[in-house]
This record gives sequence, structure tokens and C-alpha cells, in this order.
Amino acid sequence: MGIAVENVSKVYGSFRAVDAVSLEVKTGSLVALLGPSGSGKSTLLRMIAGLEVPDSGEIWLTGENATYKSVQERNIGFVFQHYALFKHLTVRENIAFPLEIRKIPKTKRQQRVEELLELVQLGGFGDRYPSQLSGGQRQRVALARALAAQPRILLLDEPFGALDAQVRKELRSWLRQLHQEVHVTTVFVTHDQEEAMEVSDQIVVMNQGRVEQVGSPSEIYDQPATPFVMSFIGPVNVLPRNVGILPDKVVVNAKGDRIFLRPHDIVIQTYPDDETAPAKVDRIVNLGWEIRVELLLKSGEILNASLSRDQFNYLNIEEAQPVYVKSKQAKIFPEYSLS
Ligand code: ADP
Ligand code: MG
Repeated sequence: MGIAVENVSKVYGSFRAVDAVSLEVKTGSLVALLGPSGSGKSTLLRMIAGLEVPDSGEIWLTGENATYKSVQERNIGFVFQHYALFKHLTVRENIAFPLEIRKIPKTKRQQRVEELLELVQLGGFGDRYPSQLSGGQRQRVALARALAAQPRILLLDEPFGALDAQVRKELRSWLRQLHQEVHVTTVFVTHDQEEAMEVSDQIVVMNQGRVEQVGSPSEIYDQPATPFVMSFIGPVNVLPRNVGILPDKVVVNAKGDRIFLRPHDIVIQTYPDDETAPAKVDRIVNLGWEIRVELLLKSGEILNASLSRDQFNYLNIEEAQPVYVKSKQAKIFPEYSLS
């Protein structure tokens, strides 16, 4: 096992920032810690790094109990959102820095730096200073520097958080490829569900200092364990369960008073059948790649549907038109039982 966190808690005053968290990260895998701001992701990462000591529980790194080991002893590479590079050093000197500290001989050092520059696709940028790089390039230098000393573990805390949306997207797929090349055990913190889904093998969803669910991106999306996970990982409609569009597949005697429906599972028809409920098209929002349709149900509830362009063109619906709706799937959670 690359990393094993066992029943770890961290309390600040009377506030439990991390509450009895256990998780495992397989050697060589890339795991995302996903959760809203304040859910304890950074605190957990800092305890894995050795920057913070847990109040209880243990942290095992590559088979050794590292709970009380120093940062230096853990041999970990980090990248933070604002991991400032040394401004007065060139890209090459920045990457070489951890190797100098470890007294790696000059020729070996130079060779390693050139390899790393290639790895992060900054071959021609070695002589530049950080101020002469874009934000995305700087974070790639930070990653090269983090990898320089061949760490056993790489920890990334919202490394793309300060970059604009387009650059973030590019860096996501770049990170995925990089990980396939170097295969270092990596924990990647993000509050962005799309980023977590795209980059990682496994996602750990955190909420209020606890782990809500661990699973592959598709498990988390298709089989959310809790209402929180279902709502956090993608858009969802939450409606009273007697709203009339519950598919047969959903166990009728399941506990829970609400149904959770994904907008893309909603089917709109211009004719009724025995699974549909009548509705009226309230608003149509054309986003280009998808069309969002807000439907007004008889009960007064709003139901959001999302259609592909083809589906929308085929339906040929307009605002205020009466339609019939059902859902391909629904989830019911016993936590949402009001009785
Ligand atoms: P995340 O990274 O998921 O946004 P953090 O781990 O940074 O969350 O923080 C979790 C909670 O712990 C937050 O409410 C934060 O205010 C609190 N917290 C974090 N570090 C400290 C600290 N050093 N002292 C007091 N409270 C802290
Ligand atoms: Mg954080």
C-alpha cells in the first residue's frame, strides 16, 4: 500500500477538521480528495505530508508507520495552489534545488534536470525566470521540482486552483499523462468534481471532516452512497417521491421521502404513457452543447432536464408547451425519510 490513513482525527479547539478518516491509496495510483471548501482536505493532506500531527490515528507510508516522522524523513513531493517558485532562480535552478540540498553530484543533477524539463514539456524554458512564465507553466515547474528528488509520494493541493478554466483543463489531461509515465503514488486535492473525475483512478469524497464515499469516478457518479455525494458530484433534482415520475425500477418500498433525479435521466415526450406525469415547458436554455429545459410539474415543482441537441431538435418543443415527463432512473436515500 502506498498510503494508509487509519482512523485519523484532527481537532482545532473544539472543531473537528478531520473526523476519524480512514483511507488507502494503492502504490502507483492517483487518488483525488474531493469535497467542498472547509471539508478537511488540506488538513488531511498536511498530516500525510508531516506538516501537521494527527490528534489520533496513524499514517502509514509505503508500509512504515510515519505518524511521527518528520517531513524530511517522509520523502514526499508537494505542489500547492500558490507554491511560490524561487523568483531569483531560473527554471533550471528551481528544479535543481532539491537535488543540491541532497548533494547530488553536478553531472547527475544536470542530467536529471534536463529529463524533468522534458517530462513537464518545458524543454526550451530552462533559462527563464518564473516571472517570464504563464501560470500553467509555473505549476509545471513546481511539479518538476516536486518530482526532482524522486519522492515516494506526490501530494497536490489544488495545484491548478489559481489558473483559468481553459488552462486547468489542459493541465488535467497533462497530469493524467504525466502520472502514466512516472507512476508515483499521488493524492490530488480538488473541490472541482469534473477535475477529480477526469484525473483520478479513485475518488475520496469528503464532507465536514469525514469520508462520505470512496470509489471510481463512475461508481461515485452512478452509485452515490449519500444524498451529499449525489448532489455534489453532478446536477440533481430533489423532489417529493409522490411526484408521479418514479420509474418501476426503483424499489417501491424503499425508505425515503425524496427522489433524486439527474437532469440527463429525464425523458420528455409529447404524448403520455403509464409512467409519465404531465408538465409544462417553463424555460429553455440553449447552451450549445446541451439544452436545459425547465419543466413545471402539476404539483408546482420545477424539474430540470438536460437534452442533447439531437433530442431537442427531434422533440421540437417550445416554452409554455404541455409535455409528459418521466425519469430513466431515480435514487432514494433513507436519510431523507421525514417520518
Ligand atoms: P479544505 O482544504 O477542504 O478547504 P481545510 O482542511 O483547509 O479544508 O480546513 C478544514 C477546516 O478546518 C476549516 O473549517 C478550517 O477553517 C479549519 N482549520 C484548518 N486549519 C486550521 C488551523 N490551523 N486552525 C484552526 N482551524 C483550522
Ligand atoms: Mg484546502
